Amino acid sequence: MSYINTLPKIDLHCHLDGSLSLEFIEKCLDKTIDINEITAPYDCQSLAEYLTRFDLPVAALQTGENLKQAVLDVICQAKKENITYLEIRFAPTLSINSELSYSDIYESVIEGSKEGQKTYGVYSNIIICAMRHHSENDNLNMLKSGRAYLGEGICALDLAGDEAGFPNENFTYLFEEANRISMPFTIHSGECGRSKNIRIAVEAGAKRIGHGICLADDKSLIDLCKEKNIGFELCPTSNYQTKAVKAGMEYPLRAFLDYGIKATVNTDNRTVSNTTMAHEYELITGKLNIAKEELMLLYKNSIELSFANDDIKNTLYNTVSDYAK
Ligand SMILES: [Zn+2]
Repeated sequence: MSYINTLPKIDLHCHLDGSLSLEFIEKCLDKTIDINEITAPYDCQSLAEYLTRFDLPVAALQTGENLKQAVLDVICQAKKENITYLEIRFAPTLSINSELSYSDIYESVIEGSKEGQKTYGVYSNIIICAMRHHSENDNLNMLKSGRAYLGEGICALDLAGDEAGFPNENFTYLFEEANRISMPFTIHSGECGRSKNIRIAVEAGAKRIGHGICLADDKSLIDLCKEKNIGFELCPTSNYQTKAVKAGMEYPLRAFLDYGIKATVNTDNRTVSNTTMAHEYELITGKLNIAKEELMLLYKNSIELSFANDDIKNTLYNTVSDYAK
């Protein structure tokens, strides 16, 4: 479907470590890697199996130069499929070491993002991820050190990791601190089938929800999310791989749109899930009868729900009218 390649696209849910190219990781680690070590099979057995594919990419993200080049590597891939804006997320605490401080880490990824705009003409912002299995102290230090860069390349906070083992009620401290320092947040929630996690995140002030697949099972929660204009970052291929959506079950995007929920479609992990935005669009137009006009609706939802500033949003809205001409 060639029209998909020419459509402008936005990816709001893209993990840096899970989206690095094989060549980039091999260069950083100075060794040959089998693609199966960093890509999970489509019929992945579990989230645990899926997560083993992040070990080598994280090992590649241990210097400032590698972090900067990693962001450029992902932006270069995005450019090839006409992505106009990208929010790249990563967990800074996984790159902390004796020679790399939080400010070194933030400055490196921001440099990559700015250079990506100059070199490839793709706008991007960085989302910083707290990790569910990390200590309160580590998560708060990471968040507080990131605050100085808010609006300067860092745009929001996320919470990632094992959602079933560490549910959202354990993270009140994180949501309260983010609100206190005016850091917007999107939270991975409802990927493991527990809609209560979505409710907690929304009531705590999340602007967006990562995945949120089980929303469709809870009518009062749908109403709450509509009332608060919450954006949902759906990632079809990844959701089938981690069994957030069971094989053979219809993907809930059509249901989300019919409920009037602000849904967006994203990659999650370009390499680990062996996907691209074009591939995700092909999947939803092929299997879910999502029409071409609805792809532009998803694009507009992504602009509206992005954490970009108004200048970038206006530029992105112009790409909609350019395409319509
Ligand atoms: Zn994710």
